[in-house]
Amino acid sequence: MNYDHLLIRYGEMSTKGRNRKEFVQKLSSNILGKVKEFPRIVIEKSRDRMFIKLNGEPPEPIIERLQSIFGIHSFSLAVKTKTEIEEIKAGALFALKALPYEGKTFKVSARRAYKNFELDTNGLNHAIGSHLLINTENLTVNVKQPDINVRVEVREDATYVTCKDIVGAGGLPVGTGGKGLLMLSGGIDSPVAGYLSMKRGIELQIVHFFSPPYTSERAKQKVIDLAEKLTEFGPKIQLHIVPFTAIQVAIQKQVPANYTMTSTRRFMLLIADRIREQEKGLAIITGESLGQVASQTLQSMLAINEVTTTPIIRPLITMDKTEIMEIAKRIDTLEISNRPYEDCCTIFTPSSPKTKPKKEKINFYESFFDIDEMVNDAVANTEKLIITGKKDKESSVFKDLF
Ligand code: ATP
Ligand code: MG
Repeated sequence: MNYDHLLIRYGEMSTKGRNRKEFVQKLSSNILGKVKEFPRIVIEKSRDRMFIKLNGEPPEPIIERLQSIFGIHSFSLAVKTKTEIEEIKAGALFALKALPYEGKTFKVSARRAYKNFELDTNGLNHAIGSHLLINTENLTVNVKQPDINVRVEVREDATYVTCKDIVGAGGLPVGTGGKGLLMLSGGIDSPVAGYLSMKRGIELQIVHFFSPPYTSERAKQKVIDLAEKLTEFGPKIQLHIVPFTAIQVAIQKQVPANYTMTSTRRFMLLIADRIREQEKGLAIITGESLGQVASQTLQSMLAINEVTTTPIIRPLITMDKTEIMEIAKRIDTLEISNRPYEDCCTIFTPSSPKTKPKKEKINFYESFFDIDEMVNDAVANTEKLIITGKKDKESSVFKDLF
C-alpha cells in the first residue's frame, strides 16, 4: 500500500454534458504532454475522475505541473485499495498515518460511485471513522471543520483514499474552445489576456508586429520569451512575426499625425485577421483595457474594429492596471514585460493621438493606400516560429505533499 496514485477532480467541465468525452480526452492528452519526462505514468480516465498511476515516478514534479493545467478543479495524492470493506479500512488508516495527524481533528467523507457496494455512505463513514479512532491516539472527530478530511471514493474496480486536496488551475482544458490568435505586444497586458483566454479552453497562436530597425532584436526576444511562458499553460504555440516597418512608414507619410495610431491599429487588425483565417482560428484576442490609452476608448475601438467582423476577445477590458499586474506577477510574465525594449507602436506614437477618431476621416485618409497590397506583402513576409517551452525547466518542488 502506498500513496502511488493521483486522483484528479474535473470541476466545471463535469457539467458540460454532451461534450464531456472530448473534454476528458483533451485534458488527458494535455496532462500527458506535460509529463513526458516521466514515461512510466499511466492515466486512467472516467467520466467524473481521472487517475494517474505513478508506477514509481516521483510525485513532486508531476504535482507541480498539474497545478498549471486548465480543466483541473483539484487533485490529491491517493492510496488505492480493493473495493472490499476491510481493505478500505486499512487503506484509510495507512493514508491517515502517513500524515502528521496527532492532535488533529478529522472526518471521513465517503463517496459511492459504485452504488451496489454493501455499505451506504453513512455506513462507510461510520465503519471507517471508528476504525481510524480505534487505531490511533490523539485524534478526534470534527464533522464541521476538520483539520483532515479523509475522502474515500468507492468505485466498482477500486477504491481511492485521499487526505489532502491541492487546488487546481480551474478553467477548461486548452483546446476544447477552438483556436484563437493573440496579438502579443511585449507589454504587460497582452500576455495576461493570452493566459486568461487559455484558461477558458482556447488554444493560442500568436501574432507580433515588428518594425526593424526601429525596434531591436531584443524586443523580438522579449515576445519569444513571453510566448514561452504561455506554453507552461498549454501546448506549443505558433508565433507569427509580421514585418511592419513599411506600413508604419507609409502611415507616417500619408495620415495626419493625430490619426496615425488609429490607422496603425486598423492595419494590425486586418493583418491579424488574415493570419487568423489562414490558421483556421475563430477569434482574435487583445490586451485592451477600456480607457487605458487613446486607442482604447470606445470611440477608438469603434473606428478600429470597423475593419473586421471577426469576434475580438478582450479579457482585460474592465480590469484596472493593478488587477492586471497582479495576474502578470502570478504567471511570471511581469518581469519579462518590464524589460525596457520598446515595441513598434511606442516608437511611432504621436504626442497627441485622437481619443475620439471619426470613421469617415480615417476611411478618407486610408483611401489613398492600396490596402490589399500592403496587407498581402506583410502576410507574405511573416516569419513563423514554433515555441515549445523550455525542456530543462527547473521545477519549484512542491513541498507540502500531504
Ligand atoms: P500591452 O500591455 O499588451 O502592450 P497596452 O496597454 O500597451 O497593451 P496598446 O499598446 O494600446 O496597449 O495595445 C493594445 C493591444 O494591441 C495590445 O494589448 C496587443 O493585444 C495589441 N498590440 C499592440 N502592439 C502590438 C504589437 N506590436 N504586436 C502585436 N500586438 C500588439
Ligand atoms: Mg503596449
